[in-house]
Amino acid sequence: TVRVRFAPSPTGHLHIGSVRTALFNFLYARRHGGDFVLRIEDTDTNRNIEGAELAFLDGFRWLGMEWDEGIDIGGPYAPYRCMERLDLYREHVQTLLDKGIAYPCFCTDEELAQQREAAEREGRVPRYSGVCYELSETERQEKIAQGIPYSIRFHVPENRELVVDDLVRGHVTFNSSDIGDYVIVKSNGIPTYNFQVVVDDAAMKITHVIRAEEHLSNTPRQILVFQAFGYDIPKFAHLPIVLDQHRKKLSKRDPSVLPIQKYEELGYVPHAIINFLALLGWSPEGEQELFDLESLASQFDLDRISKAGAVFDVDKLNWMANQYFKALDLKVATDMVKQQLDRASRSLPAGVPDDWLPQIVSLFQEQMVCASDFLRLSEGFFEQRVTYDEEAQQLLAEPGSRQVVEAYFALASADEVWTADASRARFKQIQKEQGVKGRALFMPVRAAITGQVHGPDLQKTIALLPKDWVLDRLASALE
Ligand code: GLU
Repeated sequence: TVRVRFAPSPTGHLHIGSVRTALFNFLYARRHGGDFVLRIEDTDTNRNIEGAELAFLDGFRWLGMEWDEGIDIGGPYAPYRCMERLDLYREHVQTLLDKGIAYPCFCTDEELAQQREAAEREGRVPRYSGVCYELSETERQEKIAQGIPYSIRFHVPENRELVVDDLVRGHVTFNSSDIGDYVIVKSNGIPTYNFQVVVDDAAMKITHVIRAEEHLSNTPRQILVFQAFGYDIPKFAHLPIVLDQHRKKLSKRDPSVLPIQKYEELGYVPHAIINFLALLGWSPEGEQELFDLESLASQFDLDRISKAGAVFDVDKLNWMANQYFKALDLKVATDMVKQQLDRASRSLPAGVPDDWLPQIVSLFQEQMVCASDFLRLSEGFFEQRVTYDEEAQQLLAEPGSRQVVEAYFALASADEVWTADASRARFKQIQKEQGVKGRALFMPVRAAITGQVHGPDLQKTIALLPKDWVLDRLASALE
């Protein structure tokens, strides 16, 4: 069976590029009825951030990406947190030490820097010189007995061709001579990523390693470790890099890209993010762009992943988010909006009926990308007074505007009935009396009541506003 894993390091927030990697693993497992493992690679202990792990789990849950094995739910290959697997790494290191494939390295940082400089001076590839590989067993034991700190290096054979048969990149060839003996255990006894990841992928019976392209150059190092133990080498698929709109590598600090938690806070429909990310480097056959999770899972495969970088197009994300938001049940959309109102401590006007909020939501739902858009769009329904933007002021200053607004004010203040139909009737009457129609009839009133010349259905807007607010605004526009 297919077994894939997403193996984040808890060193920061969950970046959208990482969510894409996780999603491709998740979809591949779904497609093939396999298992999706969530492993936390926390061996870079200086960089771990408190709480990052939990934020990952919350983010994936919000997106609806369930994992089959992981730190919180366990599984047949537990534990799933690397720092709880140190014994396993230690055993493996011992095996390599015994075989003479790994050896202790006593070089200090200064010595290593000197070796690097020497290599650069002589125009050689800067790689570890191998001096400690030459030490005799007695010399090693002496140094260890003296308490000199040491790391452990993997001895890389010279001039061997290392081939990564990548499901996305194809045949990629590396020469072992470019690599040099590399550290697999740091002097603090904790393994490095390139070693840990192999021990874990083998122990967890991972069949497909689907990850970011930046790890392609690590892959030959990892293959050497698989080979040293005689383990089956998983299939690799390195995903194309994510680019910004200028076709530069997308930076974690790019303001157009938010940490996944932020999208949740803003009230995006989670599946919109999934749908968008699924198409970031993968394309299905045909022109269709909107897919529910089932159809993504049934169509996704690695052979339609492109090699070329995938552009993160914010406009497309927002287009997609709008497609999903406007398709929501009004009840669901209203609940999402309620959360935003709570978060912004914005309360409903006094005395409005129960169906007031859903009606306001339905005025704006069509144009909303996410629930928090409501806060901006609906401002005029939550404060008695509005401010008049420039266009509205100009319009109100046009000849004829004042007359219409005055007439509407008079009719509205006398009206007992406060509905959209009643408002429509007022306009009809003004049209008859003053002979104005269309823009000249409606716009001055819209501008006077909403402070703007654009907005949702005017009659509904008026009917949903408290009568005293409408009168107050009309009066202040006439001042
Ligand atoms: N912990 C690594 C990372 O976050 C995982 C890479 C891999 O999937 O092998 O980049």
